[in-house]
Amino acid sequence: MKTVLLRKPGEIEIGELEAATRLESQILIKVKSAGVCGSDIGAYKGVNPLVSYPRVIGHEIAGEVAEVAVDETEFKLGDRVIIEPYIYCGQCYPCSIGHTNCCENLTVRGVHVDGGMAEYVSHPRHLLHKVPDGIPWPQVPMAEPLVIAMHAIKQAETKAGQHVVVTGSGPIGLLAAQYALTLGAIPIVVDPVDERLALARSLGIRHTINPSSGDAVAEILGITQGRMAEAVIEASGAAPAIRGAVDYVSYAGHIALVGWPKSDIPMPTALFTKKELTVRGSRNSVGQFPESLRLIAEGKINVEALLTKIVSLDETPATVADIAAHPENYLKVICVL
Ligand SMILES: [Zn+2]
Ligand SMILES: [Zn+2]
Repeated sequence: MKTVLLRKPGEIEIGELEAATRLESQILIKVKSAGVCGSDIGAYKGVNPLVSYPRVIGHEIAGEVAEVAVDETEFKLGDRVIIEPYIYCGQCYPCSIGHTNCCENLTVRGVHVDGGMAEYVSHPRHLLHKVPDGIPWPQVPMAEPLVIAMHAIKQAETKAGQHVVVTGSGPIGLLAAQYALTLGAIPIVVDPVDERLALARSLGIRHTINPSSGDAVAEILGITQGRMAEAVIEASGAAPAIRGAVDYVSYAGHIALVGWPKSDIPMPTALFTKKELTVRGSRNSVGQFPESLRLIAEGKINVEALLTKIVSLDETPATVADIAAHPENYLKVICVL
């Protein structure tokens, strides 16, 4: 079968591998669409130490059920599904308290094991979710970044009526801001790229701030009438944004860190104490796929506006290389089969 294969960092091609077969307790899926994620680009660039090579990329994978066990009752051939790509061990401490999203032995498709940018993939049946009929294939993989965004909003305990600053307007940030709207919260998107802020406004996000051309703290102070934001979602991984979160958040506020910084960031921890902040990490998601798919199906979250380009499997290797070279030209790319 055809796959999008990373031979080694910087070397990506269509690789012909032996066709995937259904494994024990798993379901075989004929892949229909796959999202290219920042982590796939990281794997291509060789900056993710968790990735081993050669490696088939892709963890945002949707398709049709192609083969099930003989005693399968829930899934049948042709069912539309999306995979939950975080395969947890079920044994470690975080798994034992239900935090399977940060399992100590987490295995992620396209990182630790081969991903789903391939004609077929076999995946644990308990990590599959049925997809409502109305969602076109290119939009289905967006349910994965959406659960990441939803989890971050939850980690920051965002409530209706609260202001939530979202730093970074990549796919996760724009999805988090849209999800905040569905909860009745008031998102404020902070990003140094004006075109991204314009896109955010076109999605119904009234407040956007460019911190390189304006005074973000002063603007947030004005929008929140002196309180600052009760919640901050840091979705960029950029050092100035992570540092900025401590200034953007209110006293007794919550910060969720979902972006992955490239190095350690010095922080004014005295402000954590002074403001009595709750600062939480936010990794993957747990139990949020059904709601994510419902929000997309009902049109409550516009994922189509985030799609820069839809490409074929054959076009994907060159596109991944181009995204790595010119990340500013892309928001989200979907590969359809
Ligand atoms: Zn992803
Ligand atoms: Zn575990």
